[in-house]
Amino acid sequence: MTLPLSERDFQSQVIDLARSTGWRLAHFRPGQTAGGRWATQMSGDVGYPDLTLVRGDRLIFAELKTSNGQATPDQVEWIQALTAAEHVTAQLWRPHDLTEIATLLSHRLDPNTPPLGAAV
Ligand SMILES: [Mg+2]
Repeated sequence: MTLPLSERDFQSQVIDLARSTGWRLAHFRPGQTAGGRWATQMSGDVGYPDLTLVRGDRLIFAELKTSNGQATPDQVEWIQALTAAEHVTAQLWRPHDLTEIATLLSHRLDPNTPPLGAAV
């Protein structure tokens, strides 16, 4: 009989697999608050996926759960929003780009728009 895999162990396996296959990844780990509660320090909308992975032309956002784990409504909304995104933009932004940033964020993204800022 196999014990059920915890989300933490599952995540470690996925991260090891991603690293061994050349993916660049980000994961925001929770920390324990003074009150003993576990929380991930981030600002923005809650429910951001556990893993962000990129390799070549592929970008993946993954929420990990145990075999019986359920995604929260916030996690489902993030997955739906990321799934709906047709364009990926990765840019270096500086304060002097703020006008162009405002334009970018308030209009539909035009894939022919040259990138903002200097080359990374
Ligand atoms: Mg998770």
